[in-house]
Amino acid sequence: MARYTGPVCRLCRRESASGSKPGEKVKLFLKGERCLSKKCAVERRTAAPGQKANTKNRPKVSEFGKQLREKQKMRRIYGVLEKQFENYFDKASRSKGQTGASLLALLETRLDNVVYRLNLATSRAQARQLVRHRHFIVNGKRVNIPSMQVRPGDGIAVVESSTKSPLFGALTEYAKGRRVPGWLEFNEQELKAKVLAKPARADIDTNVEEQLIVEYYSR
Ligand code: SF4
Repeated sequence: MARYTGPVCRLCRRESASGSKPGEKVKLFLKGERCLSKKCAVERRTAAPGQKANTKNRPKVSEFGKQLREKQKMRRIYGVLEKQFENYFDKASRSKGQTGASLLALLETRLDNVVYRLNLATSRAQARQLVRHRHFIVNGKRVNIPSMQVRPGDGIAVVESSTKSPLFGALTEYAKGRRVPGWLEFNEQELKAKVLAKPARADIDTNVEEQLIVEYYSR
């Protein structure tokens, strides 16, 4: 499946410039540890990309504009292109329960996101690459599909030979002691994880208003 390969900090600047409050810093956390440093682009300026810094005279954003921006924000956080995101929405709207929460749960249970949530990658883009490079085993089988959905009861492990690579060694150090969400269980010594449950909305700290996305697709 294709993915966005352009500059990513401009995506955060776009969302910051369109945020509900002037000067609000909207971080999508697309660049790993850089996002937490002073080098983060929205820490320096929140103007829209390609424009002079002008956060005072912003045009009023319509209801449709807010819904569109929220949809774009969620799509970019999880690194999903338009068509695939529509497919996720279709699937969520056909499932039981609230569509917005189901949509978030579907995105959260992608294998690349799970690797990111286990802190075995500093960004979802890096997690996606690690999965593509076959560093993980799911239920005993080596996998390379970042969009693979994991289910409660699934076991995820790092391929043993991968733990010896310097990149992976640094990442497993990075993962040690970091918080893992309650719907996942992670053994830091063995680098093995288990999916305990489907994530509920309260388990997901992604800063999006999913109701706006439901309204966007219900027009
Ligand atoms: Fe966004 Fe991270 Fe770039 Fe900051 S460093 S603008 S949070 S991608």
